[in-house]
Amino acid sequence: MFDVNRIREDFPILKEQVHGKPLVYLDNGATTQRPARVVERMSEYYLRYNANVHRGVHYLSNLCTDANERARERARDFIRAASVEEVIFTSGATGGINLVAFSFGEAFVREGDEILVTGMEHHSNIVPWQMLCERKGATLKVLPVLDNGELDMEALSHLLTGRTQLVAVAHVSNVLGTINPVRRVIDAAHAAGACVLVDGAQAVQHLPVDMQELDCDFYVFSAHKMYGPTGVGVLYGRRELLLQMPPWQGGGEMIKEVRFEKTTYNDLPFKFEAGTPDFIGIIGLGEAIDYLSSIGMENVAAHEEALTRHARERLSAIPGLRFHGSSPHASSVISFTLDGVHPLDAATLLDQLGIAIRAGQMCAAPLMQRCGVTAMIRASLAMYNTFQEIDALHDGLLRVVAMLREKR
Ligand code: PLP
Repeated sequence: MFDVNRIREDFPILKEQVHGKPLVYLDNGATTQRPARVVERMSEYYLRYNANVHRGVHYLSNLCTDANERARERARDFIRAASVEEVIFTSGATGGINLVAFSFGEAFVREGDEILVTGMEHHSNIVPWQMLCERKGATLKVLPVLDNGELDMEALSHLLTGRTQLVAVAHVSNVLGTINPVRRVIDAAHAAGACVLVDGAQAVQHLPVDMQELDCDFYVFSAHKMYGPTGVGVLYGRRELLLQMPPWQGGGEMIKEVRFEKTTYNDLPFKFEAGTPDFIGIIGLGEAIDYLSSIGMENVAAHEEALTRHARERLSAIPGLRFHGSSPHASSVISFTLDGVHPLDAATLLDQLGIAIRAGQMCAAPLMQRCGVTAMIRASLAMYNTFQEIDALHDGLLRVVAMLREKR
């Protein structure tokens, strides 16, 4: 049984006070908190077992190497990839997207080709593709977003052409919360001969994902948004493609044999992991995956769904509050604006009440423009949030509205 109070016990930070008020942490889309066991596992490795991976023959090095590779197997299982060869450790979702933009770009993108992104992408899933297009003389196209915050799926078939090499799409929008019909995007792209990168940064902590069922070519996510450490992430890549792609960075670990005349590269996944990885972070990610799996993604999703329904219901009663994104297929990311109140002012006042939310562009400037605003307020909920915390946000917003509207 899912017991939110039991889960909260695992996260010491949730007992902290901010400005003398109990912390209400609703900025999980930016980064989640970590359960003690993740931090303890990492500190155990730092304090007792630390040694570099994949290069020693001594006891500690083998211990860390085994733990690193066990974490890879856990990540493979978590996303149901067919093989550990397809699981590449990166510095995060951004690192994974840049790797693909460079390496896939080198192998497959030529002058006159096209890359299709959507109008709701995070800057991380726009800028690397723009840089690729600039390097190669390719064109960036954009799949529009409808007024309800869903993708314009009718436009997809017109935008996909014989020149489209890759479609980059968020699984879940970090602003609108929309859970995109990625399987339909993937099928349409494949039918047009294009590959698909799915940005799962806002998905894996909320929904079960299955690479084999999804049939995407690339999938990226960050550990720190799923109760793991910062600085670590995963790139899933389809084996046949990874084999054809050149390494992104050169260095130790990604090579088989180095000669001044010619170097040969390592097998997958190591070909894409140059240099010492953040192996203790990777071990922490493995622990976070174990933790999430012990709770069960279905249970996480059910709790967050109930919480989101409650939040949308309560917030919709606040005068002048306008949600951005109203798709029924949405996760626990809730963005809105308040008539006559600047989002940054609202965030500052809520902070005084101990409530942490995000305000600003959410690294999605083109989407802000599409929604006709310069900034939004975002509450992003995690499995440890409670109905009482939603009520605290509601009450806090009422106070913000009363204070700031009075002043105008
Ligand atoms: N993609 C989405 C949808 C995000 O929400 C984020 C972070 O907010 C990123 C990518 C980038 O993640 P990171 O900064 O961990 O690389």
